[in-house]
Amino acid sequence: MKPLGPIPQGFSSSGGILSLGGRPVTDWVEQAGETPLFLYSADMIRARVAQLREAMPQRLALHYAVKANPFAPVLKLFSDLVDGFDIASGGELAMVQNAGIDAARVSFAGPGKRDRELEAAVAAGVTLNCESEAEARRALSIGEVLGRAPRLAIRVNPDFDLKGSGMKMGGGAKPFGLDAERVPALTREIVKAGAEWRGYHIFAGSQALDAEAIADTQAQALELAARLARESGEPLPHCNLGGGIGIPYFPGDAPADLALIGQRLEERFAALPEELQGTEFCIELGRYLVGEAGVYVTRVVDRKVSHGEVFLVTDGGLHHQLAASGNFGTVVRRNYPAAIATRYDAPVEEEASIVGCLCTPLDRLADKAGLPRADVGDLVAVFCAGAYGASASPASFLGQGPAAELLV
Ligand SMILES: *Cc1c(COP(=O)(O)O)cnc(C)c1O
Repeated sequence: MKPLGPIPQGFSSSGGILSLGGRPVTDWVEQAGETPLFLYSADMIRARVAQLREAMPQRLALHYAVKANPFAPVLKLFSDLVDGFDIASGGELAMVQNAGIDAARVSFAGPGKRDRELEAAVAAGVTLNCESEAEARRALSIGEVLGRAPRLAIRVNPDFDLKGSGMKMGGGAKPFGLDAERVPALTREIVKAGAEWRGYHIFAGSQALDAEAIADTQAQALELAARLARESGEPLPHCNLGGGIGIPYFPGDAPADLALIGQRLEERFAALPEELQGTEFCIELGRYLVGEAGVYVTRVVDRKVSHGEVFLVTDGGLHHQLAASGNFGTVVRRNYPAAIATRYDAPVEEEASIVGCLCTPLDRLADKAGLPRADVGDLVAVFCAGAYGASASPASFLGQGPAAELLV
């Protein structure tokens, strides 16, 4: 038997069935009219934001990284909860605009921005986190054509990375951002060209659970920002310190110590160097805000035994939950938290693998897990599905199509 990841706090059962938002998932499935179904809990998202606000210094603004979950009702909910939004494409710009979010609260990072994406962003008044000198110059010429001063920040490729992070996005040769030593010159060029100068974006990595490592990275980002501001000779209006706070997905993972991160940042803020005294700071988070608030619900359509092993074959799979299948940036496949939603309180009775309906051996949602005995018609829940699920999985694969989504 292989262990399952830890089920996030906040889920309960009602009549033996997994419930969220005060109702059993069977009710939500009935309302949606189909499985598979992503369910996102508004209460859990609100609680998570409140927890962060409580732990972090008041001076620190909170941004939501849209790519984690761009479902329109989720964006609308965040509109009232966070200070800013970080997008990574023209498509995401359209999504935040459709959700009624003011472009002045939006910043746009990501390599390979096309001219029409830059145009849409400059026209709307979105802050562009420039990934290269060439991109900054294209944005400046587009600004001239549009008769509008672009709001420009520089994404810095820091000379450090986030230790223990699942995805390193800084340190060494990277397609992201501008190498730190070239930043002061571009800063001066941007200011001289008459753009609205918006400061630095320093993102070193993602999905870290080690609070000390996150705090160290934030301290290094502050030092780097101060050094770059000093060398460029321009005041720093804003600095995005990156994100990186992860969530426990796998057996043995423990949540990051938020209080420690907040306390260390508070101490840093109390002793800021001259260059950063007037700077506004933010962090940008995706999965930490939504990941644990989502569950993917899929129905068992077949139960079979092969060479003595039980397989629960579901109507879902990696086309909606690529990460849970172990095919989205993990080296060794480990089990996400999962359960039989319709037998939520039942004891472990057997070892079974939960697989999807795709004709590939990669399509496995839980491998050799200890579960209650489930049958055709039962619902399976895969947790930690609120981020990088629906939008980061190949929904068109094998002609399957997207899953339903509900914010409850
Ligand atoms: C992906 C990404 C994020 C969000 O990462 P999470 O791990 O979901 O918090 C934030 N900022 C940038 C620049 C990113 O690329």
